[in-house]
Amino acid sequence: MSVGFKDQIQNPSDPIAFETEVKQLLNILIHSLYTEREIFLRELISNASDALTQMRFVMETEREVVDPGVEYEIHVDVDEDENILEITDTGIGMTQEEVRTNLGTIAQSGARAFLEAAEDEEKDLEDVIGKFGVGFYSVFMVADWVKVTSRSYKPDADPASWFATGAETFMLGSAEKDNRGTTVTVKLKDDAAEFARKHRLREIIKKHSDYVAYPIYLGEDEEQVNRQNAVWRENPRAVDEGEYEDFYQHLTYEFEPPLETIHFVADAPMKIFALLYIPPEPDRGLTTIREENGLKLYARKVLIDEYSKELLPQYYRFIQGVVDAEDLPLNVSRESVQASAVMARLKRILTNQVTQTLASMASNEEEKYEEFWSKFGQFIKEGVASDESDRSSLYPLLRFRTTSCPDIWSSLDDYIERMQEGQDKIYYILGDDEHSVTRSPHLDYFQTHGYEVLILADPVDSFMLMGIREYKDYALKNVSDADLELPTSPDGQEGKTEEDDQESSLSGEQVDHLLQTFQDKLGDRVADVRPTDRLTSSVARLVDPEGAMGQEMQRVYKMMDRDFKIPKKILELNTEHPLIQRLGRLEDGHDLKGAVIEQIFESTLMIEGLHPDPADMIPRIQKFMKSALKE
Ligand code: ADP
Repeated sequence: MSVGFKDQIQNPSDPIAFETEVKQLLNILIHSLYTEREIFLRELISNASDALTQMRFVMETEREVVDPGVEYEIHVDVDEDENILEITDTGIGMTQEEVRTNLGTIAQSGARAFLEAAEDEEKDLEDVIGKFGVGFYSVFMVADWVKVTSRSYKPDADPASWFATGAETFMLGSAEKDNRGTTVTVKLKDDAAEFARKHRLREIIKKHSDYVAYPIYLGEDEEQVNRQNAVWRENPRAVDEGEYEDFYQHLTYEFEPPLETIHFVADAPMKIFALLYIPPEPDRGLTTIREENGLKLYARKVLIDEYSKELLPQYYRFIQGVVDAEDLPLNVSRESVQASAVMARLKRILTNQVTQTLASMASNEEEKYEEFWSKFGQFIKEGVASDESDRSSLYPLLRFRTTSCPDIWSSLDDYIERMQEGQDKIYYILGDDEHSVTRSPHLDYFQTHGYEVLILADPVDSFMLMGIREYKDYALKNVSDADLELPTSPDGQEGKTEEDDQESSLSGEQVDHLLQTFQDKLGDRVADVRPTDRLTSSVARLVDPEGAMGQEMQRVYKMMDRDFKIPKKILELNTEHPLIQRLGRLEDGHDLKGAVIEQIFESTLMIEGLHPDPADMIPRIQKFMKSALKE
């Protein structure tokens, strides 16, 4: 290898001053204490890769080129004794004039944006260096001096060289170079000697440049380090399941295969390659190497972000994978408006892609979708709750347990299909667990008349409801709403109690007296006590006063603030129920009367999940048992 360079080049020019902006940039880079200096290698390899790609294009049109038959390759060589590192490509090369302009000025907008960000004292410089691809100049974070030798593909151009030791000036010179392409020779600073060690270089290349499209050979034994072919850039029809799984394993180190693979290649409106995975489980496995959520973002196969969280909405954070976008500048950054517009577009496209994949899984692979739903359903609900994107596109993905079909997952469309004639609302009940909620008195009317009700027993459901108030013109209604307009029952039978031991109804006077007795006993623990015809088999229920905060919001508040006080409720009594009727006939002095009233009230609290301490009821229940056994 040709690292016999000693501080000078052939026929050096007088020192030429760098452009002011380059000086600023170099000063920052030379003095930076940036801990991830290794990215300089990524930048040099990316330049080499670009030069090779450009050469490919040249080959399509030009006949006369230097080295027409040479392989497209990148070589990384080291001289461990001298701390010299050399990156060579067989790319397009540069003429002397090109060397002067390309490596003396700032062409790329990224470096300019970097400078602006660096001037902003608020910003953490370390962070800024990582975010911007500062390109070629980043080599000065690790270099004492840098020499570039290049030979253009143009047959009549002489080889050229470039040499710089610091931030002020560079020199141009001639060179002897028989082969087409560019060699960047780096004399490493003493504290950067690690970059002349092959094991370290192998590690860095694997990490940042594994999918560069050209072979990267390390050292004299010509070992190819990168895996080169980027699965995501291949035609989806040419990739088989096994390859997708291999890549998933390579990406995550997870053993279980993914639940679903989404391979998406588009040309317009942007050139995008995306290989996304729904993992087998919502939690990352123990073996995973993915430390955070987010997708790997490449721009033209060069890794720019290991964990990009801006490519999908928050609720799709469980998705793993790789996105490679051609139109993304390598210096993509949050600070650059243009880049963020591209990112926003990318996000929209990818989000649609994931949603569509799920929708088609839901209609074509029901079983798989149910597995997905039981593991990841809460993310979709979260998506409906949050306002991040077009939430209505998520509605068809929702699945529910219902009172009529408690053992299967139903979609809203399934529900609508099963609706009774004349029904124009979608009913739901909120509760703490799927099973106990089915005993709720609010369901009396609906169960008696065969109306199906969605069971919402997941804590996230109250949040979800804030983002879905209707579906396909059907309003969603809570069965516990006191002022809910009930459908006229198709079977013509109104809410009557089913108990056959019905006693003769209480007189109006007896009812009024009983309501008053409840009111006196419960005092300000209730907002009101009143009769209702909505109940059939249940004795009583609690409802919110008209105009009060809805039950969904109460639950949301309660979840966010433990001290939140649930507003006082109205106690509604089923005056047709035998228990209430007997109670209405009991003389006021009876020693069980007060206790029964308490028990009825506390039972309604319990069924609403509002009882502060159900064990408090035990002494009273024992009292009832004793009295029952006496007879
Ligand atoms: P960029 O983001 O444009 O690559 P750099 O500062 O990294 O910015 O490089 C500046 C320019 O130098 C490149 O645009 C390219 O024209 C030229 N260049 C750098 N490295 C090479 C190379 N290995 N072969 C050919 N040209 C190169």
